[in-house]
Amino acid sequence: MSTKNAGPNDIRSSDIVFDCPYCEKSLAIDCRGAGLTITCPDCSNIIQVPIPDGMEIFDIDSSDQDKEVRIIHMREVIADAQGRILQLESEVKDLQARRDSLEKLRAENAVRFEVISKELENTGRALARISDVLISAAEAAKKT
Ligand SMILES: [Zn+2]
Repeated sequence: MSTKNAGPNDIRSSDIVFDCPYCEKSLAIDCRGAGLTITCPDCSNIIQVPIPDGMEIFDIDSSDQDKEVRIIHMREVIADAQGRILQLESEVKDLQARRDSLEKLRAENAVRFEVISKELENTGRALARISDVLISAAEAAKKT
């Protein structure tokens, strides 16, 4: 869809004719451009094509060919969305598997910590016994 500077010869009755709000150049665009954001061909500012009074957005794509194009485009959008959904579902599955494996690891570590804690306790008791024996031996040595 092309925007053109509105000249007297090439404007069709279906064209929307409006002035650029920046450079005030008179512009014409096909009626299907109503509401679109375009670049002014004259001053390069971004402008919005006005929607003429009484024109429903619904009227804009009224020809069968346009409808087909729109339907095809919507199908592409839907296919993209479905692809994205599948991708997200697989990401969710990966995250769940990762969470499960971390949970398992945590449980295993809890068991390991308990074992280590018991071993430390036993080692502590053994050291206390050795200490007692050494003290007794030292006292026995003084007496002799
Ligand atoms: Zn302009």
